Amino acid sequence: MAGRVPVLLLDHRLGFLDYAVPEGLACAPGDVVEVPLGPRRVMGIAWDGPGDRALPEARLRPILRRLDLPPVGAALRQTIAWVADYYVASPGHVARMALPAAALGAPPREPRRFRVAEPLPSLRPAARRALADALLAHGGSRTLAQWRELTGASLARLGGLVAAGALVVADRADGTPVARRTVPTLSLPQQAAAAALLAAVREGGFHPFLLDGVTGSGKTEVYLEAIGAVIDRGGQALVLLPEIALTAPFLRRFEARFGFRPAVWHSSVTPAARRRAFAAIAGGAAPVVVGARSALFLPLPRLALIVVDEAHEAAFKQEEGVFYHGRDVAVVRARAEGVPVVLATATPGLETLENVARGRYRRLELPDRFGGARLPCVHLVDLVKTPPARGDWIAPPLAQAIEGALANGEQVLLFLNRRGYAPLTLCRACGARIACPNCTAWLVDHRLEQRLLCHHCGYAVPRPAACPACGAGESLVASGPGVERLAEEVARRWPGARVAIVTSDTVRTQAEAEALVGRVLAREVDLLIGTQLLAKGHDFPELTVVGVVDADLGLAGGDLRAGERTFQQVAQVAGRAGRARKPGTVFLQTHQPGAPIMQALARHDREAFLAAERAARAAAGMPPYGRLAALIVSAERAETAEAAARALAAQAPRADGLQVFGPVPAPLAVLRGRHRLRFLVRAPRGCRLQAHLRAWLGAVKLPSAARVVVDVDPQSFL
Ligand code: ADP
Ligand code: ZN
Repeated sequence: MAGRVPVLLLDHRLGFLDYAVPEGLACAPGDVVEVPLGPRRVMGIAWDGPGDRALPEARLRPILRRLDLPPVGAALRQTIAWVADYYVASPGHVARMALPAAALGAPPREPRRFRVAEPLPSLRPAARRALADALLAHGGSRTLAQWRELTGASLARLGGLVAAGALVVADRADGTPVARRTVPTLSLPQQAAAAALLAAVREGGFHPFLLDGVTGSGKTEVYLEAIGAVIDRGGQALVLLPEIALTAPFLRRFEARFGFRPAVWHSSVTPAARRRAFAAIAGGAAPVVVGARSALFLPLPRLALIVVDEAHEAAFKQEEGVFYHGRDVAVVRARAEGVPVVLATATPGLETLENVARGRYRRLELPDRFGGARLPCVHLVDLVKTPPARGDWIAPPLAQAIEGALANGEQVLLFLNRRGYAPLTLCRACGARIACPNCTAWLVDHRLEQRLLCHHCGYAVPRPAACPACGAGESLVASGPGVERLAEEVARRWPGARVAIVTSDTVRTQAEAEALVGRVLAREVDLLIGTQLLAKGHDFPELTVVGVVDADLGLAGGDLRAGERTFQQVAQVAGRAGRARKPGTVFLQTHQPGAPIMQALARHDREAFLAAERAARAAAGMPPYGRLAALIVSAERAETAEAAARALAAQAPRADGLQVFGPVPAPLAVLRGRHRLRFLVRAPRGCRLQAHLRAWLGAVKLPSAARVVVDVDPQSFL
């Protein structure tokens, strides 16, 4: 035997076990290995450290083999350990995220990619030359099939270009720079911010930045500059986006600037493409990776920079499997790797600003919109004083502005964060509301799909003809607006307008998102109606009017961050207006135009809003001035869940300053058929909250029918 090594088994019920390293097997920390466990063979990661010395070496079972997979580097191992510790998760469960299914299969062979030769050889006939010029105008490297898709030219004609030496094989897959294209001239504030990032990239080491600037101030251009430096130095940059829908506009912009496409990592990428991407990323061949939060656990052997764009987004928080916040894990990974990390946002959360205030993050500010574009003028529409007509949702001031924009050939965006036709269906005869059988939630009317749908569990039924409760026919009515209903109103009032509804129901894939953006840019759409999917990232120069149909909607839930989220969301969507030369106008429809948050939005006065928010949080000992964790107990039977909650309550930690609230039924008291109760733990800042949570969970033996999940730094309180 050549010694012993602790192995982290990739199973959330197990953890570290020591194994013997057989003679002749080279095994270093980070190697992926197969080991025996009882009668089974399981995968694991060879870990650091001496292991459990109490166990005599002679009793250890040997590692069976080392798998031919990219090793899990020291910094990634450190990140895994941190996540498991901080989020009170099992290390094996966390480690599984570092070895996705895509890592296991061999990558399929990549079709060759071609780029246009520069300089172009002389070409004949003229049509061939014209085709080459058209390809050149697009730039980038693509497979022949992709070139065909893009240009409509047949494979035979494209093949002709290859034969003539006008299309040549691009160096490498998944994004080796082909040619640097357009580099913008940065404004002075952009230059200052970019210089700080470039210095950090050159120097290396952990440098956390907050890149703070209003929408349209040019934050993306600034961090692309830093990414350019990483590419030039042969490193890897990781860019996290909160939503898949933002990938398409980002890729478009990235390719226009750098002439190649980054590797993409998120759930809607096909398995074959994922395997290819994984191989390119883990092999160090992909200089830039764009992805969702799961990309944080990829092996990136030459990682030199992490960017989290729209860093305030709640979507970075994962609330299934291992509960973690991608924004925070990005900073932890950057620290472990010793690389700079950039959190870019127009509306940083209080937690992030607190880190700036404490000197942990360096803030780079872009005070103004780029190119003199002005922030849009924000009007508050008082829904009490100037209400919409009965059955309508668009009040007269907004309607007038829509009228004007359409007459000028400009584009309009109506924002309503509600998918479907109506959030509720009720019976006029008996007053019954149609609820989900599996959840404490009303079914949402989706007319386009002709069904009622639960947004929590996916349960769907055809819209019933009669009331399921009293049997009355023709008595069911839709209550409240969703985007589809808004589209109905628009079609009635402006029959000529070309409308696009943009929600996760209508835009499901990256290709669909790209097609939509293309249609808007080509001015084939006059009026966009959409949910938060539309609120950010896009840059539509002809868009001059933004209407927020219900600015009060996000405040309704009233949880800790309701105000902050509303401010962020409305500021984001307002930022879509007037991004180019044309000035923009935003209409916020609200029942409380006098509320401080509405006033702050109208004046673009983020500081006033934050000051009030800070004071309220500090007074209540809420984050970032105190710490929170939630425990969610669930079971299929209500009694089981209640008994488990009682057992936990009996052992609730008692420590100075630590407060345990609950158990109380969760607002979503039943979810996917499971009954749920919640505890909320509040602790002072310095408290080792996790130790208390671990001790608590360890002290209670729960029946196997009950499940407890821990949510450290909860974002959702449902
Ligand atoms: P943000 O990321 O802060 O919302 P962007 O980086 O998207 O801002 O910039 C807003 C708009 O201004 C984009 O259309 C972008 O292309 C343009 N822009 C920003 N900086 C420059 C620059 N230095 N030169 C030319 N155009 C720029
Ligand atoms: Zn449901």
